Amino acid sequence: MLKVINELGIHAHAAGQIVELAGKYRAKLFLQKDSREVDGSSILSILSLACPKGSEIKARIVGVDAKEFMDDLERLFKSKFGETEQGQYRPRKKIMKMKGFPVSPGITIGKAHHLDRSRTTVFYRKLINKKEVEREIDRFKHAVDMAKEQIQKFKSNIPEQVKGYAFVLDTHLMILDDSLIFDSTIQRIQREKVNAGWALKKSVNTIHQLFKKVEDEYIGRRMDDVDSVSERVLSNLTGVDPDSLTEIKKEVIIVAHVLSPCDIVEINVNHVMGILTDVGGRTSHMAIMSEALEIPVVVGLESATDIIVDGDLLIVDGNTGDIIINPDPDTIITYEDKKKRYYRYKSAIDRVRHLPAETSDGYKITIKANIEFLGETKAAIENGAEGVGLYRTEYLYMIKNNFPDEQTLFDDYSQIAKMVAPNPVTIRTLDIASDKMMISDSEIGASKENNPALGLQSIRFCLNERNVFKTQLRAILRASVYGNFRLMFPMISGLGQFLEAKRVLKSVMRSLDREGIEYNREIPIGILIEIPSATSIADILARHADFFSIGTNDLIQYALAIDRDNEHVAHLYEPFHPAVLRMIHQVVEAGNNEGIDVSLCGEIAGDPLAILILLSLGLEEFSMNIGSIPLIKKMIRMLPLREVRDQFKGILQLPTSENVESFVLKKAQSLLPDIFKEGVFRYRTTGIE
Ligand code: PEP
Ligand code: MG
Repeated sequence: MLKVINELGIHAHAAGQIVELAGKYRAKLFLQKDSREVDGSSILSILSLACPKGSEIKARIVGVDAKEFMDDLERLFKSKFGETEQGQYRPRKKIMKMKGFPVSPGITIGKAHHLDRSRTTVFYRKLINKKEVEREIDRFKHAVDMAKEQIQKFKSNIPEQVKGYAFVLDTHLMILDDSLIFDSTIQRIQREKVNAGWALKKSVNTIHQLFKKVEDEYIGRRMDDVDSVSERVLSNLTGVDPDSLTEIKKEVIIVAHVLSPCDIVEINVNHVMGILTDVGGRTSHMAIMSEALEIPVVVGLESATDIIVDGDLLIVDGNTGDIIINPDPDTIITYEDKKKRYYRYKSAIDRVRHLPAETSDGYKITIKANIEFLGETKAAIENGAEGVGLYRTEYLYMIKNNFPDEQTLFDDYSQIAKMVAPNPVTIRTLDIASDKMMISDSEIGASKENNPALGLQSIRFCLNERNVFKTQLRAILRASVYGNFRLMFPMISGLGQFLEAKRVLKSVMRSLDREGIEYNREIPIGILIEIPSATSIADILARHADFFSIGTNDLIQYALAIDRDNEHVAHLYEPFHPAVLRMIHQVVEAGNNEGIDVSLCGEIAGDPLAILILLSLGLEEFSMNIGSIPLIKKMIRMLPLREVRDQFKGILQLPTSENVESFVLKKAQSLLPDIFKEGVFRYRTTGIE
């Protein structure tokens, strides 16, 4: 039996040492507390045993060197895992590695600085009389008002580089007013007679449950915004001031459990060299904003705050997600070199981002950006986008539990139109499944669907919910006079459906006419081609549409019957599948024959290998994620397009994706040796090795 005698118990630091020890032996370790036994080589399993000081753990070791292993393990427990009497760890200078999600690129080397962002502890308190209930409601309202003032202050001090993201703070203000937070907390205080903090925590838990059903990662991450707002209210309620970033006066790498967008607004870029967090995902707002500040960030490290000690030397690779704690001199030299190469490469890319995407033999290629919300517009322009080729308009529908009104939509759309003008914005009508919205089933009259990807979503949902659809169309049309809009319907599967959508649009136009409201009567109306049935009849659709945009993200999913969000079939999601290439080609030909514009806005447009194929198939206009634009532009400027098309003849005859990929790779290496031979790419991603 092993007894836990150190103050902190089996915390991550101690668990890490057990795992490290297990790695040195061939024998396998199992640890048991009470009746639960776990794998002793998994840090999370050990942590899940929850062993505070005084716990007793049984170790079972199976294998050839079990005896030596057990001796060492006993010694480790007796040494209190290197912890001092005061329950602190002696500074550890051992090299350790961690891996998280890289969300903002760049490489940095510096000292760790912990920022305490642990959750405010809230205790349950029963209110005994009406007076206490009233006082608690007042306290809650006051804490919310304070939070609003604080956020407004952050907003007015927002640094230039992240000004475009001020809307994130507006979202936080909206969350504070949202009935799921504000009204429901007050109702809970009244109904359950509990203190404000407890009631708020319960409201947030309910929202967590609601978000749990959401499979889409981007929407799911909006829970981070709810958490960050509620933490602010809770700290106002408890009067505990969180650590402030403004107090950091030397160059450090921040290590925190979580950071909020407000924290990012406070950052002094001269002092903060990098950020690591335990939680968070690629699409959290703090990640998006820190990218605008060009600070390398790795999130989702799970236990960084437990493992990293203040003052540890860290290497943060924001391109790969690798973290090295207390690296040895050789590793530092390797990373210094990697860092130099990365920034040299980045500045080469940056130099071309505002130059036209013209091939070396004079073909003009158009590169636009895909954006998901207003705040990304500035970054799109700064990265050299010549317009927005896909505005996914779902965001405003996802953040609240009721449909946005026409004015809210109009304000958003007209701002984007103005910012991007004279360049065009292709605005896509609502492309959402009912399960992704925060709106309750009763409001949309939809029941939970077993297979939302094949269900009542996107244009089908809009044609079913005409009022929701018409409100959006009115807002788009009204905003169309402020810039250069193209309107696009998603998920069109047949001609009848497209004509029906156009009829609804015409009826909205007529009602605007009756009201004497201005709009662009010539607004081009296009189809997002993303269902195989639409590729098959592209020639027919082309006679009725002003343009096509090929949405390969869904086209691949529907053509290959691969759920794009299902990790079990992820390996079968093959963008280079010959069937996909033939479909794209068919759509390009159909569009060209009818003389309409054909572009492509799926993720593959930003893939350095895919872009070569797409150019060879005749496409000359692309819309892609903002981060890929500079690199793709650089590639295009070096490419002789006529030669590419010549060399790629026959690509449609290749039998498998693997054949296609190796064919393209070989061609890429001979056409663009500087880019593809140096090995600076991780193929099929936008990162850099
Ligand atoms: C697509 O399906 O390719 C597309 C561009 O749209 P989304 O990724 O928003 O479905
Ligand atoms: Mg799609």
